[in-house]
Amino acid sequence: METFDPAELPELLKLYYRRLFPYAQYYRWLNYGGGDGSRERMTKNYFQHREFSFTLKDDIYIRYQSFNNQSDLEKEMQKMNPYKIDIGAVYSHRPNQHNTVKLGAFQAQEKELVFDIDMTDYDDVRRCCSSADICSKCWTLMTMAIHIIDRALKEDFGFKHRLWVYSGRRGVHCWVCDESVRKLSSAVRSGIVEYLSLVKGGQDVKKKVHLSEKIHPFVRKSINIIKKYFEDYALVDQDILENKESWDKILALVPETIHEKLQQNFQKHHNSLQRWEYLKKTISSQDNTKNDKCGPWLEWEIMLQYCFPRLDINVSKGINHLLKSPFSVHPKTGRISVPIDVQKVDQFDPFTVPTISSICRELDTISTNEGKRNEAESDIKHRTRDYKKTSLAPYIKVFEQFLENLDKSRKGELLKKSDLQKDF
Ligand SMILES: [Zn+2]
Repeated sequence: METFDPAELPELLKLYYRRLFPYAQYYRWLNYGGGDGSRERMTKNYFQHREFSFTLKDDIYIRYQSFNNQSDLEKEMQKMNPYKIDIGAVYSHRPNQHNTVKLGAFQAQEKELVFDIDMTDYDDVRRCCSSADICSKCWTLMTMAIHIIDRALKEDFGFKHRLWVYSGRRGVHCWVCDESVRKLSSAVRSGIVEYLSLVKGGQDVKKKVHLSEKIHPFVRKSINIIKKYFEDYALVDQDILENKESWDKILALVPETIHEKLQQNFQKHHNSLQRWEYLKKTISSQDNTKNDKCGPWLEWEIMLQYCFPRLDINVSKGINHLLKSPFSVHPKTGRISVPIDVQKVDQFDPFTVPTISSICRELDTISTNEGKRNEAESDIKHRTRDYKKTSLAPYIKVFEQFLENLDKSRKGELLKKSDLQKDF
């Protein structure tokens, strides 16, 4: 099934960066309307002051790359042929000149608020795979994570421009790109990621979710999302109460006073569905006045521990933290980091995401069918048509929709400002 051969990567990347990478859209994104008069001094250099870092062959890692414009970016990417591209902050000076600046003057000033969710952080609660492996059974964890975090970013914080991207292997990233968000301090970013974190404690901590009696609306809404998936995901696919070994992990999350009763009766029931029903019944039948540790929140704490998104906090906190770029290639799987359409996130299947070899092959077939091209035609002209004929096209469409919305917001802001000026 897997046709990607890492040995071919250098050649494939050459073709990808020459014919398929969506430079125009990419530049349109990171330039944020710079130069169209909509923003102030800083904006003109927004793209030029952005850090990119490249991972080259043999893990050679180069930080503080920066580019003047789209064509400079294209030229450099084709020359360097990076195995991986990361995006960093917008700095006070051009990153490629950071050595020429007085010590301490070179500062990260702005960046998108980013989130990184990685399947390896769920290893204690998924039973199908571990470490870097994923399958369709555990991918539901990412689906739930996107629904929960995206809802909160949109409804609780009012953030408009959220770009979700598949990492290419075992997780997802989110880029929140609203103008005001890009200016947030590290302290505010920490506050936001703190608000979005419920699962706490490392490997040694058994019970990682503790709810207070009064459930916060964010928690309630998150539980409502998990409820839609819990039966199929946790009780059927993961079978979290399948045998003694698996249910002992859940018993560790409930008060000892009900352990014996649950142990005995779990043996009598036939599957996770029945055992979960029994657990719920047992919890609700406890006299709350005598046993204040038993309440309906206990069921929710288990659900959250098994399903709630686990964010890499440090990635979100730091303004200068680097994150893998959309449309970068995963050097191990060959999969492209493609944007995810949140409207269709339930249908998103990481195993159908194009690999660099599959789209390069598609390109080959097109070229053969169309006969030899007129070499005089520009690469750029080709590229627009080229990716459109590959399975990368629908993902670039998702990206373009995101860019459209950014443009609309910017134009709206411009209009507001000019109306204000008229009033004076
Ligand atoms: Zn799995």
